[in-house]
Amino acid sequence: MRKNNFAQAIDLHVHTKFSGDAKITPKELVDQLHAHPFIKGVAITDHDTIRGYEEVSKLAKAFEDILIIPGIEVSVENGHIIILGIEECPTYPSSIESVIDFTKERSGVVIIPHPYRELGIGDTSEDIEADAIEVLNPNATQEENKKAENLARKINLPCVAGSDAHSLQEMWLAYTKVDAKQEVNDILRAIKNGRVKVASTR
Ligand SMILES: [Zn+2]
Ligand SMILES: [Zn+2]
Repeated sequence: MRKNNFAQAIDLHVHTKFSGDAKITPKELVDQLHAHPFIKGVAITDHDTIRGYEEVSKLAKAFEDILIIPGIEVSVENGHIIILGIEECPTYPSSIESVIDFTKERSGVVIIPHPYRELGIGDTSEDIEADAIEVLNPNATQEENKKAENLARKINLPCVAGSDAHSLQEMWLAYTKVDAKQEVNDILRAIKNGRVKVASTR
């Protein structure tokens, strides 16, 4: 049997100033990632825009040790859905179902962030075809995160984590260990297949 090797440590939920409610600049993000001793990948998940990802990935080309995953935290009618591996926004306003179809058509990954926090989609998660649940979000309470973990177990989905950082101090507080190569498609595949472990630097 193949032995797991959680070689990648990736923060799957970070905002840049292009989110409007966040302060992190693309340059700060790239510098911090390059300087970090072991977190070497990040998914840029700005609210309803890909511009932050575009700027960050441009700057990241100067560094060989870091990986930037395209993502969007999409606003749907009753909360947020994170999609990864996609470099275009869905059309708005979007229903959850249409965002999921949009993502699957493009072979992306659907993550349900902070299901029981404010702007989480809650129990609706049980009725949709997501790929993973964010069970560790530092902006959610312990109880909300625990509920998310129970949900993931109930509907049998992989558990992932991200800092949901909107400022520099919040970066990397939670991240995901991934059994994959340092390559976007391999990481997305590993998330879908559950070759992931949640972790925290707190
Ligand atoms: Zn959110
Ligand atoms: Zn967020």
